[in-house]
Amino acid sequence: MSALIKPHDPDCIFCKIVAKQIPSRAVYEDEELYAFHDINPWAPVHFLLIPKMHIPSMAQIGTEHAGLLGRMMALIPELALQQGCNPYPDGGYRLLSNTGREGGQEVQHLHFHVMGGPRPWLRG
Ligand code: 5GP
Ligand code: ZN
Repeated sequence: MSALIKPHDPDCIFCKIVAKQIPSRAVYEDEELYAFHDINPWAPVHFLLIPKMHIPSMAQIGTEHAGLLGRMMALIPELALQQGCNPYPDGGYRLLSNTGREGGQEVQHLHFHVMGGPRPWLRG
């Protein structure tokens, strides 16, 4: 397990969101996961799904995280429809996880962007 993974990083903005030290608009919450609306949406639907544990990015993920990642992936179709993404195949959504500097990652806490809704979008 990477030493960069910890239950909580006091300097991390998404850990502060999980701890409710920074307000956010919740989409979903359970013991290990949190989803909330992106503050700067690219699309009519744009939310982020994160593990509550501080995992910096996909780069720290290994086979020991298959259960966690599986639960995240399995949740997305249901949340996307609940949030207003139109049904597949005419609707759908974009699922994205920027990883590292060259991957365009700005917040160093693993997150999946879920973007959808009628086009045109602002970006993406
Ligand atoms: P990244 O480039 O790391 O994949 O994207 C980080 C995302 O987090 C961006 O889309 C940005 O708008 C979003 N974000 C950054 N700070 C906050 C915040 O304080 N609250 C919310 N709701 N979203 C944030
Ligand atoms: Zn964090």
